[in-house]
Amino acid sequence: MNIILLGPPGAGKGTQASRLVAGRNMVQLSTGDMLRAAVKAGSPVGVKAKAVMAAGELVSDAIVSALIGERLDQGDTAAGVIFDGYPRTAAQADALDILLAERGSALDYVVELEVDEAALIERIVGRFTCAHCGEGYHDVFKLPTVAGVCDVCGATEFKRRPDDNAETVSTRMAEYRAKTAPILPIYEARGLVRRVNGMADIDEVSAAIAGILGS
Ligand code: ADP
Ligand code: ADP
Ligand code: ZN
Repeated sequence: MNIILLGPPGAGKGTQASRLVAGRNMVQLSTGDMLRAAVKAGSPVGVKAKAVMAAGELVSDAIVSALIGERLDQGDTAAGVIFDGYPRTAAQADALDILLAERGSALDYVVELEVDEAALIERIVGRFTCAHCGEGYHDVFKLPTVAGVCDVCGATEFKRRPDDNAETVSTRMAEYRAKTAPILPIYEARGLVRRVNGMADIDEVSAAIAGILGS
């Protein structure tokens, strides 16, 4: 089972992907996480991506598709992959088809998280994650059960992304509208798209996705 979670920044892709990983034998491939790791490591890819990400623009198709191809070769992805934040352009969508076909695999569903753009700024500026395990939180919508302590791993340090500010978000939204939303009709024509109301509670969104994927 290979699925794409598609939606604008803040739609809940990462939140839902990590729940799918916890509940099923699937692997989450997030190009955003891979690129942030590359920036942190100071690798050649990270050096190229850093300023582009800080500006809220898209990193080149060649870079992100190469990251995905390398990751698919690590051998733990046979049971299924959740693509989170990839593909983001028509060229990436084409590249993904080829990468999967070369490995005898294919896409099963493209789950579109339908959201109200006006609500996304609040989601993004309130986003933070556990510095230790990466669990996602929100200042209003998902605080740790015990203040200051990660529900999952008990760590007490959290971090915020430098690009999660109102100014960069508007560029990221514009990139989504201009380059990512246009790939939906391509998948629609292939009968792969399933829509989910991304404005519902986190648990309700998870239930809707589970309903699509079956048990
Ligand atoms: P994306 O990966 O699509 O950018 P995230 O999963 O990181 O989005 O979610 C963005 C922020 O919104 C996070 O702080 C997360 O806790 C919160 N969030 C995610 N889904 C919901 C939801 N259904 N309702 C309210 N807040 C949500
Ligand atoms: P969000 O879902 O909140 O927009 P991501 O973590 O997916 O954030 O991406 C953060 C940034 O990393 C993007 O704004 C972009 O600069 C870069 N990025 C991530 N995935 C891709 C991709 N598939 N193609 C191009 N750039 C990407
Ligand atoms: Zn944690």
